Amino acid sequence: MSTTKTITVAYGDGIGPEIMESTIKILDAAKSNLRYDTIAVGEKVYNKGIKSGIEDNSWDIISKNNILLKAPITTPQGGGVKSLNVTLRKTLGLFANVRPCRAYHPFVKTKHPDMDVVVIRENEEDTYGGIEHRQTYEVYQCLKLITLPGTERIVRYAFEYAKSNGRRKVTCFTKDNIMKLTDGLFHDMFKTVAKEYPDIESENLIVDIGTARLADTPEQFDVVVMPNLYGDIVSDITAQISGSVGMVGSANIGVKTAMFEAIHGSAPDIAGQNIANPSALIQAATMMLRHIGRFTQADNIHNAWLKTLEDGVHTPDIFSEASKVKASTQDFTQAIIDRLGQKPETLSKVSTSGAFKVQIPELKISRSENKPSATQKRTLTGVDVFVYWEPDTTDLLAERLKQVTGNEFELTMITNRGTKVWPNANPETFCTDHWRCRFKSKKGKTTQFQVVDLQKRLTKHAIDIIKTENLYLFDNEPAFSAGQGE
Ligand code: NAD
Repeated sequence: MSTTKTITVAYGDGIGPEIMESTIKILDAAKSNLRYDTIAVGEKVYNKGIKSGIEDNSWDIISKNNILLKAPITTPQGGGVKSLNVTLRKTLGLFANVRPCRAYHPFVKTKHPDMDVVVIRENEEDTYGGIEHRQTYEVYQCLKLITLPGTERIVRYAFEYAKSNGRRKVTCFTKDNIMKLTDGLFHDMFKTVAKEYPDIESENLIVDIGTARLADTPEQFDVVVMPNLYGDIVSDITAQISGSVGMVGSANIGVKTAMFEAIHGSAPDIAGQNIANPSALIQAATMMLRHIGRFTQADNIHNAWLKTLEDGVHTPDIFSEASKVKASTQDFTQAIIDRLGQKPETLSKVSTSGAFKVQIPELKISRSENKPSATQKRTLTGVDVFVYWEPDTTDLLAERLKQVTGNEFELTMITNRGTKVWPNANPETFCTDHWRCRFKSKKGKTTQFQVVDLQKRLTKHAIDIIKTENLYLFDNEPAFSAGQGE
């Protein structure tokens, strides 16, 4: 008999409390031997004026128990509130988001009866840093940050997941034909790490065609790993085509803490009606049980749930001609409890001893003795100065800049929205009020002082600087993108 484990639970908003009650009833009926510390999150907390949606003392409870089972919450629109989900993932370092999306044909309608795809999404980086600025009257910016350790961790996790769960292939989605540095890093890391797993097939696809193929023939995919934003979109598509977003749970895995949740939202349109499908949160709970090593209980619940689907006991969202009983949330819950100990006959039963518990990967590249900061030479070679300037006066801007460039630098290029507009603009290129002016050191190497002096000269000559980006060489290779058309 396992020792009692205390987990943290959050009942959330909308249908959250109904599906959480259902899930806990099933966990208890399967003798999961859990205790629950409940924290308040979401609307109730936002309404107290707490913009994070979580009270300060809840963090200690989450950290003490290391496991959070969370129902969906309603994120208020506007009002300066931050998404609680993103805050939880980032604050607790939950770097991997794992969503298994499997078809339950012929019991739940799907166009893809053979699909069984696990989407592994990087969970902390990319544009989800939420670092955004309005820089000029016309231009808004969101920073996309892809890091070496973050990428190494998620890519290694995807291969470790495949290995621990008997999966045959890992596919990576990137857009490195356009974002050569950020997505290029992700793709390169994927190729490097893949070599350590010769028994697992690996492939990289550009995210657009990859998503198209995944939506068309998901049975050709197995484990798919990608940066945060693509993963957010692709995992919902994958869940939806498997049958319903109401059926898919997700695990958010960190080094110390893990959070398990349904992928759908709080469904306020059906809240309080006892018709919500609790399956996604139940799925999340079985992933949680496996994560803490309770495989027997996880398999028992999972198989009883599959048997319930097979017996045609379905909540209204998945009710179709294959269904027999239109069940309320509570009836569906009871049907699962009644089937504990039973196994499905048509759908493959689960037997997962040892699976899902994935070792948190060691960072062998980004935190090793040979990490780039120990081995690569970093040289400052120039600066991109972004300025606010009226549209359609490029030559005038170039003339003004050249007057103050000085001996240290030369003005090599001006771009607008990333496209070269000086020298030799194409008159058809549309320009806004946001210009990138590239100054390169004539000697190939400069100093922070020279860069600051250049900015001082520009400012004295009434050039309105919005921001700057230093240009570096790493081992003499340029580490900045060229202008479109340069
Ligand atoms: P939603 O997922 O809540 O609902 C979309 C549709 O699916 C609705 O018609 C809903 O009735 C249905 N649906 C969702 N889950 C269902 C279930 N378990 N059973 C039956 N039907 C179900 O998405 P939304 O309407 O865009 O968002 C509602 C709120 O949820 C928003 O405030 C949003 O910010 C929030 N949200 C929270 C999370 C989370 O907490 N993890 C995730 C997504 C959205």
